[in-house]
Amino acid sequence: MYSDIENVRKWGSWNFSNSNPLIIAGPCSAESEQQVLNTAKKLKANGKVDIFRSGIWKPRTRPGQFEGIGHQALEWLQNMRKEVGLPFVVEVANSHHVEHALAASADALWIGARTTVNPFYVQEIAESLKGTKIPLLVKNPIHSDLGLWIGAFERFDKSGIKNLAAVHRGFYASNSAPYRNDPKWEISFDLRRLAPEIPIICDPSHIAGTSGLVEQIAQVAMDIQMDGLMIEVHPDPNQALSDAEQQITPKQLESLLESLTTKSKYVTPLELQKLISEQRKILDNLDSRVVKLLEKRMKIVDELGHIKANNKAGIFQMERWFDLLKQRGSQARELGLNEDFINDLFQIIHKYSVEHQTGIYQGLRSDE
Ligand code: PEP
Ligand code: MN
Repeated sequence: MYSDIENVRKWGSWNFSNSNPLIIAGPCSAESEQQVLNTAKKLKANGKVDIFRSGIWKPRTRPGQFEGIGHQALEWLQNMRKEVGLPFVVEVANSHHVEHALAASADALWIGARTTVNPFYVQEIAESLKGTKIPLLVKNPIHSDLGLWIGAFERFDKSGIKNLAAVHRGFYASNSAPYRNDPKWEISFDLRRLAPEIPIICDPSHIAGTSGLVEQIAQVAMDIQMDGLMIEVHPDPNQALSDAEQQITPKQLESLLESLTTKSKYVTPLELQKLISEQRKILDNLDSRVVKLLEKRMKIVDELGHIKANNKAGIFQMERWFDLLKQRGSQARELGLNEDFINDLFQIIHKYSVEHQTGIYQGLRSDE
């Protein structure tokens, strides 16, 4: 889709991939010059951190909470870069933020989840970035609308911003327990399928919502081939002015990065590879039979559609639908299969069957 964004995994001196993940770390918010310096020194000493992050304009859900230091904190970040030697990334949510961040020569920018949801803001930011080469990270929108995420990339791409990456930070859901945000990994799989050129960085902190879950989420991100991590780190998380529960200490980050298994560390013995590929062959064969069966099923759906249409019978019959779900549900139970799985599967099959039959009705109606 984005033919120009070919080498996005190379941003100047940053060359990253799943085997060499880009590590972005730092506090949720810049709180004081001392906190910025102190955290950055520890992260630099770690040796694995590429970029220092900190929010300076904080999009808070409710007013009255700490809303960030504002553009004054850019000076702290510039001093930190000079003294410690770490590049920095900040969040921007409108063209004023962009102006300030560019004037301070920020090394990269990120767009927050509350901004990606709004095409007006995305467009405004895209316009204000025209002509720059700054790397830009785009967080997923708060809710799981892949179109909005893709739309943001399209807007930036059209404005000539080519150093792009996605940040997967999870999605709002009323039942996201045990996480703060539901990871819905499948949305990132879809993004990768549609735009494989765009690297995906995981933000386990905002998915987790609590520090104890950060490490396991970071590992999942590596297992599914993501290209980097953005992790919130605070020298004293309990005292943090925002997102206190989910921040980890520089020491905890060190141990997390130490135990992280990235692609370069996996060794698959030959025997195991053989075993896996044998089982995959069997799965491929079964999947192909499933698709052929679905094709046969669709032919019957088609015949049935014509019978219904010719006799002016309704397409959707509620009792029949409930009966189908009941029958397949009890079959699933007997076979020890997850009933929800079979239920979800038939919802999709049914949706496309109804769509097909509706097409037949519309065809006949236009012939009349
Ligand atoms: C953040 O990174 O601190 C932040 C506000 O993130 P998000 O936009 O993902 O909520
Ligand atoms: Mn945060």
